[in-house]
Amino acid sequence: MPAQASPPLGKPACPRAERLVSFVSGCQWLALLWQTSFMGLDSKRLTTLVFDVDGTLYQQRSLRRAMLVRLLAHAVARPTTSLATFRALQAYRHAQEALRDHPVEGYLTTAQVRLASERSGQSEVMVAKAVARWIEAEPLKLLKRHVDPALPGFLAAARGFGMRLGVFSDYPAAAKLEAMGLAQFFNVVVSAQDPAVNRFKPDPCGLVETLRRLGSSPGEAVYVGDRFDVDARVAHAAGVPCIIMSRGSEPATLPHVTRVSDYAKLHSMLFPPAPQPSS
Ligand SMILES: [Mg+2]
Repeated sequence: MPAQASPPLGKPACPRAERLVSFVSGCQWLALLWQTSFMGLDSKRLTTLVFDVDGTLYQQRSLRRAMLVRLLAHAVARPTTSLATFRALQAYRHAQEALRDHPVEGYLTTAQVRLASERSGQSEVMVAKAVARWIEAEPLKLLKRHVDPALPGFLAAARGFGMRLGVFSDYPAAAKLEAMGLAQFFNVVVSAQDPAVNRFKPDPCGLVETLRRLGSSPGEAVYVGDRFDVDARVAHAAGVPCIIMSRGSEPATLPHVTRVSDYAKLHSMLFPPAPQPSS
């Protein structure tokens, strides 16, 4: 007896199943539409998406684990200098958090290196060298494998819908975007170290400057980040709705903020499903 032909993978076996899939897809989209209206976003007016980088365009935790392995391998060969490097890098990250809510005299990078030097007991030259290697250069080799596989398709779809795309990050982002293979999607890239900004988040100056360069108003934009305590605050201060990419359970304490777990879900939230061809 000949084997019965099975339907193609991913396609329903009968029109009733097809209608059911279409109904469920429509319900999911309506639920996401309700979510966007709850966050104060008028999806018909949406023209602009601005992204944070670290933890938003790639998985920061998994990258940091991979970098820790590299640092430990380095420490086996040079235990004395590596302890000083660990201290300098930790102090540099803590210095950023300390400078978030304080105006900075002079250049932001200089202030961060100086504070890290004071706190770690290492020279400013040593801190700057450790940062250049372990925070700026080495991670570039690993970045691409920590990008959500759905992200390039999401960005291509956003451009296809005519969206203007920008980046506003607390650190220079151009080399990271190149390393991730995402640079071609963005119209504007701004960092906290830009002379027109010179402020870390949550100061809204950088996001406002990014929107100005994109030619967009806050009411037609969304800021996509990964931290409620930083990205949601900067968006709130700039009057922009915010989407936090997170699988965690932290409560969204500010208005106009919603949480999305991945780019496949964000795609469904912002862009309507293509109409199904009638059979
Ligand atoms: Mg981030």
